[in-house]
Amino acid sequence: MHKNDIKMYKEEDYLQLSGIQHFAFCRRQWALIYIENMWTENVYTIEGHIFHESAHGGKLSEKRKGLIISRGMPVSSSKLGITGICDVVEFHEVDNGITLHGRRGKYKPVIIEYKKGRPKKHNADRLQLCAQAMCLEEMLACTINEGYMFYGEIKHREDVIFTSELKNEVCSIVEEMHMLMQRKHTPRVKTGNKCKSCSLANLCLPVLNENKSVSRYISNMLKK
Ligand code: SF4
Repeated sequence: MHKNDIKMYKEEDYLQLSGIQHFAFCRRQWALIYIENMWTENVYTIEGHIFHESAHGGKLSEKRKGLIISRGMPVSSSKLGITGICDVVEFHEVDNGITLHGRRGKYKPVIIEYKKGRPKKHNADRLQLCAQAMCLEEMLACTINEGYMFYGEIKHREDVIFTSELKNEVCSIVEEMHMLMQRKHTPRVKTGNKCKSCSLANLCLPVLNENKSVSRYISNMLKK
């Protein structure tokens, strides 16, 4: 392949876009879920699913004056090799935008992702939203500069700017995910504060450093 050729992934190699938030939170957590197929529901993940379902609302699209709202929209990118679902994509009618099949006028796509909780210190949510935008850019041949995260706990919409740095971070994360998936490699345990809110702690931590008692480890973590 020429060095300037863009790599295109085959559909059978596509990874779940939603894995990006897990990967950004902890590489090992992503590998346990997507390579080793381990998953445990906890109260936070179940509440999150219910919140997402209400965002999709069971209605695929609706139209109001100058606005089309698409819920649960499937997206994918052959350049990134990822596929997923956008909670909500709004198409706002503008003078200078993209055309939509079977619709009159021009539109600007605006992505909104719903999360049950509140904004986090790490970038995982923003990276996932940016990856959704990159899929839509490829599908609609357009540029998307910003989107929104809606956080249920604070009932607030946060503006996310898709800078070139954020897009580059998505590219390198996805590349690393593909590399680990191809090698079926699960990174080793690297504990930190993140483990206190990890839904896979019960499955991950028993394999931790054999010299340390798991119950002592967890009680120490909870005291921090
Ligand atoms: S317990 Fe910690 S190291 Fe293990 S998967 Fe969760 S966050 Fe990662």
